[in-house]
Amino acid sequence: MELSRQKCRRHAFREAVARCMECNGFFCRECVTEHEDRLLCSDCLLKLAGKSKKKFTILFRSFQLSWGLVCLFFLWFFFYEIGKFLLSLPADFHDGTFWTRMSGVE
Ligand SMILES: [Zn+2]
Ligand SMILES: [Zn+2]
Repeated sequence: MELSRQKCRRHAFREAVARCMECNGFFCRECVTEHEDRLLCSDCLLKLAGKSKKKFTILFRSFQLSWGLVCLFFLWFFFYEIGKFLLSLPADFHDGTFWTRMSGVE
């Protein structure tokens, strides 16, 4: 059957101008959307969007996980450096005599 003779699946009185590439249904211009160079009806678009959203969530979770590990590493490194720095300080820094010496008794 010719496309021009078809009616939109949702709007019985509207002529179909496009065909959904996913479910092969005929739809009017208002019912189809271009998605990644493909014409899709809103139902299929929703289905596809749901799928890609799920994929995105998995991607986001793995990203979050690796980012968490990186953060953890930096925190560990940070505290490790602080610890090293504190240890490298002269012994009299800890008992307070360091500061009195720094302010000078000149
Ligand atoms: Zn469709
Ligand atoms: Zn329609």
